[in-house]
Amino acid sequence: MSESSNPELPPLPYDYDALEPSISEQVLEWHHDTHHQSYVDNLNAAEESLADARENGEFSGSAAAMGDVTHNTGGHYLHTLFWENMDPNGGGEPGGELGDRIEEDFGSYEGWKGEFEAAAGAAGGWALLVYDPVAKQLRNVPVDKHDQGALWGSNPILALDVWEHSYYYDYGPDRGSFIDGFFDVVNWDKAAEEYDKVVSRHE
Ligand code: MN
Repeated sequence: MSESSNPELPPLPYDYDALEPSISEQVLEWHHDTHHQSYVDNLNAAEESLADARENGEFSGSAAAMGDVTHNTGGHYLHTLFWENMDPNGGGEPGGELGDRIEEDFGSYEGWKGEFEAAAGAAGGWALLVYDPVAKQLRNVPVDKHDQGALWGSNPILALDVWEHSYYYDYGPDRGSFIDGFFDVVNWDKAAEEYDKVVSRHE
C-alpha cells in the first residue's frame, strides 16, 4: 500500500516582524506557529483516524473525520498560499498577464479590488481571487471557514485570511484597516506566477 506523506508546516518565507505594520510580529507568530500548525496536526490526525477505521471496519467516526479533512486541508492549503501572497516589499497593482486578465474579467483593477474588498468584508473565513477552469475566467469568492463556499475545480491565486485571529489583536473590530494593510504588502509577483501556471494548464 502506498502511503501519502504527512503534510508539514512550511516555514514562513520571511521573518515574523517582516510585515509590520500591516501584521504585527506577535500576530504572525501566533498565526503561523499555532493556528496553521493546528490545521496541519488536525489534518494528520483525521487521516490517521480514517486509516484506522478502514483497517478495523468500524466507520462510526469516519464522517466527522472526512469533514475534518476538508476543513483542515483547506486551512493548510490557504494559509500556505496566504504567506506566499505577502512580501515586505509588496504592494502596488498587478502587472503582466495577470494585470491584463483582471482588467478583462472585472472591467478594471478598481472593479476587481472593490469586489474583492466586499468579499473580504463579509466572508467568515477568506476572500479569494480564483481561476475558474470551467468558465475560463477569474472570479472573487467569499469563503466561510476554510471550505464553505468553495467553487469546485477553481484554483486560488490570491488568498486573504479574514478570520478574527488574523487581525483582531492588531486592529480590533476594524477589519477594513487590516484589509488596507494587506494591500500594502500584497505580493503580486507571486500571484502572477500562480496565474501563469494555472492558465497554462487550462487555456
Ligand atoms: Mn488563519
